[in-house]
Formats: sequence, C-alpha cells, structure tokens
Amino acid sequence: MRRIPVPDKWRTLVLGAEYDRAEVPLYEASGRRRATLLKTLLSSACRMDCRYCPFRAGCPFAKRRTWETDKLVRITLDLYRRGVISGLFLTSALYGDPDTVVEKQIEVTEKLRKAGFKGYIHLRLMPGVHWWYIRRAADLADRIGVNLETTDPARFSEIAPSKGDWRQDILYKLEYMARESRWRKASVDTQIMVGVAGDSDEDILRLTWRLYRILGLSRVHYSAFKPVRGTPLENAPPTPKWREHRLYQASELIRRYGYSYAELSSILDERGMLPDKDPKEAYAEANPDLYPVDINNASLHELLRIPGIGPGAAELILRIREHRRVTAPLLVRILGITTAKKVLRYVYTGDRTLF
Ligand code: SF4
Repeated sequence: MRRIPVPDKWRTLVLGAEYDRAEVPLYEASGRRRATLLKTLLSSACRMDCRYCPFRAGCPFAKRRTWETDKLVRITLDLYRRGVISGLFLTSALYGDPDTVVEKQIEVTEKLRKAGFKGYIHLRLMPGVHWWYIRRAADLADRIGVNLETTDPARFSEIAPSKGDWRQDILYKLEYMARESRWRKASVDTQIMVGVAGDSDEDILRLTWRLYRILGLSRVHYSAFKPVRGTPLENAPPTPKWREHRLYQASELIRRYGYSYAELSSILDERGMLPDKDPKEAYAEANPDLYPVDINNASLHELLRIPGIGPGAAELILRIREHRRVTAPLLVRILGITTAKKVLRYVYTGDRTLF
C-alpha cells in the first residue's frame, strides 16, 4: 500500500538578545500559495482538561509560556519587514475566560494593523466567545475560526469535558462567523481532530459537507490524533497520517469539485471509512456506469468527475470545445503525458486511442 510522505512544515527560529531570546515557531502553510507564518499560542497556560492536549491543566510535561503582547507584536513586525514571514496565525490555550483571551488576541491584531502590518492574520478564536469580539476579529483579521474538534456534542464532552458546549459554544459561533464574513474582511475555517473521539470518515464528511455547503465556510482542516505523554490518552493508538490526507482529498471534492455527500458516501466501506486511495479514482471505480465520459459532450459536472481533471482543466476543455473537438493528442498537450494517460482510461474522445 502506498504511503503518503508527510513533509515537516514546522521550524523554530531562535531570536537572540534583541528580543530577550525568543523561540519563534514558523509554519509553512500550503494553500494555493505557500506562505511562512509565525504560528503560535498567545499562552499555553490552560485551565481546561481536554484529554488529548499537551497543554491541559496539570500535565506535568507542559511548557507554560505566555507572550507579552508588545513583544509578540514587535517580533511579528520585524520578521514581516525582513521578509521571513508573510503572516501570523494566533491561537491560545484558555488561560482565562474566552472573552479575556480573545480580547488579547484582538489587542495584538489591532497593534499590528496600527503599526502598518499588511500581512495575513489568522485568529483561532475561543469556544463561547461573545459575538462582539467575533465581529471585531472579523474586521481586523483575514481569517477567523474556532475548532470543532469532533462531529457531535456527546463525543466532544468525552474528549473536552470543560471546554464548553459543542453546539452552543462552537457550532453556533461558527455559524455566526460565517454570516458576519459576508460583510466583513475575514473568511472562516475550523478544524476537526481525526481518530480521537471515534468519529468515522462518514461522520466527518457529512459534517464537512454541511460546513461548506450550508454554512459557507472557506476551509475545514483535519488533524490526525497523536497521543501525548502525560495526558489521559497517552496510550491510545495514533491516527495514521494517510487518513488525514484522504479526508483532505475527499473534502476538496466537496469544496472545489461540487461533489455531494451522497456521491462520496458511495466510496465508504461498511464502517463508514474511506479507502487508502485517491477518492476521485475510488469514486470512478465504485460508479462504472458513469464512465467512459464523452469528453466532447460532457457537462462541467461530468468533466469534474474524471480522475486527473481539475477545475482549471475542465474550464479549459469547455473553452476549447467552442472551437474544435478534444482529441487524445490534444489531451496529452493540455495535461501532460502522465495525467493524460490516467484521464484516457475514463473518457471517450472519438479518435484513435493513443494508449
Ligand atoms: S482548551 Fe485548548 S489548550 Fe486547553 S486543554 Fe483544551 S485543547 Fe488544550
């Protein structure tokens, strides 16, 4: 079975006397463009007891640190001006009530913006935060969100017993953020932990579909569970990284390719889990009656269900079809030999096949 190589996206920059020595965690974010972010917790001194978390209250191995607001602002500005980072991702442990923590996150953001910081700011807000702070954060930051962690209230209470009510404090807050984002600067995202609370891929994809299609979120992130020493779940098995990767791929089929939840459910096994293979190819294998697709008559919807054809290539094919027929040699020119070989397994071009 092919395993996914997982690049290490983290590095630590150690800054010297100028800043009283600070260790600055940098993260290579990979969206449409690669970007280096200063990704940090405002504080790791948490009062909560989430069962999976290294910063939970009482964890003997947790390093407790809290940024001074001005120092974080100064370092962020300096690294941005020197071109080391293009933005800041700021989250926090719950060292106080949610409003107090978010007020500090907003203070950092306000100071940065006031000092002329034009970089990207992503604020991971706290469960249960008051709507007033959400609106302020959405005016200042480029992206805001709050972590769902799991897919239902009962599972959430099991793994995060004191972090609030999953529906009231997280889901409804996300809904509010998504509504506000229509008039404000920030888009909205969230994160679900994979493999910690017993959620199946089916549970996760069903919720993902609702978050994209009903709430209009910009991104849903997944994080494979890793047991941490000194936490109640230290002996629980880790979630394989490939599962996180397959969920990301399936979620992109919803977000960018317009797959419905029902379509994706055709590739889940009896336990509601995705196979360890490209979900788009798995969909084609599970629905052989839909293939081969006639490339010269297919709709955008049908083109987007051909493995190897993404939204850009599908649009290009539609434009080309206004002037001429799409043939196998033309597909090779557009897509390159490797991708065209894959695509030609699923399409009918009407000309002599090349392979
Ligand atoms: S609230 Fe956040 S930082 Fe605190 S224990 Fe839970 S997950 Fe960890």
